[in-house]
Amino acid sequence: MTVRIAIDGPVASGKTVVGMTLARRLGCAFLDTGLMYRAVAWAALDRGVGADDECAVAALARRLDMKALDDASGRLLADGADVTDFLRLPNVENVVPGVAAMPAVRKALIARQREIAAQAPVVMVGRDIGSVVLPEAQVKLFLTASVRTRAQRRHDERVREGVESRLDDVARGIERRDRLDARQSLPAKDATIVETDCMSIDDVVALAMGLWENCR
Ligand code: C5P
Repeated sequence: MTVRIAIDGPVASGKTVVGMTLARRLGCAFLDTGLMYRAVAWAALDRGVGADDECAVAALARRLDMKALDDASGRLLADGADVTDFLRLPNVENVVPGVAAMPAVRKALIARQREIAAQAPVVMVGRDIGSVVLPEAQVKLFLTASVRTRAQRRHDERVREGVESRLDDVARGIERRDRLDARQSLPAKDATIVETDCMSIDDVVALAMGLWENCR
């Protein structure tokens, strides 16, 4: 059976680290679809395409050759170059919700994501994977956690990286992102909703592995 695992959830819900760990365990590809939306936003800024011009940005989304590295490292190549380090910069962060809300951009990227899933077994993470991109996925998780928990996780991550951080500011940023992302965030009706406030990454991975073993 070809592995198709969909993991959705809001910002800082742990979906990326859980998805990467699962992909390594199962020996399959990992695709963070948020990075694809970010890469389109970055390319629009980089190439001087108006980030609010839906037709131009959608043309870019169709043209841009995006490929995840094979090692489940969560890195993305755009037109052959590793652009991952640019994708979380504030200028990209500011325009990506608007880009992700454009129907023509979503249409282009959803088609690409389905093509990628048709080529190889995959763990895919995003906002609409279980509901729209891969409704046939064998395992669908929707990870959630309170704003407080998610802010604490992001804050701890930044402190570990030596980046200046204030917990209140991080929490406000997460609330803002939740509001902007609300329309794209579509949990599948048949997804397993996992409240991760009191769970470790290992707990969530174990739960996902259990669901995968059960459906084989
Ligand atoms: O997950 P991440 O924060 O990297 O996502 C970047 C942007 O792309 C967000 O605005 C998010 O709503 C959007 N996105 C989306 N559909 C996906 C994945 C991400 O609209 N499948």
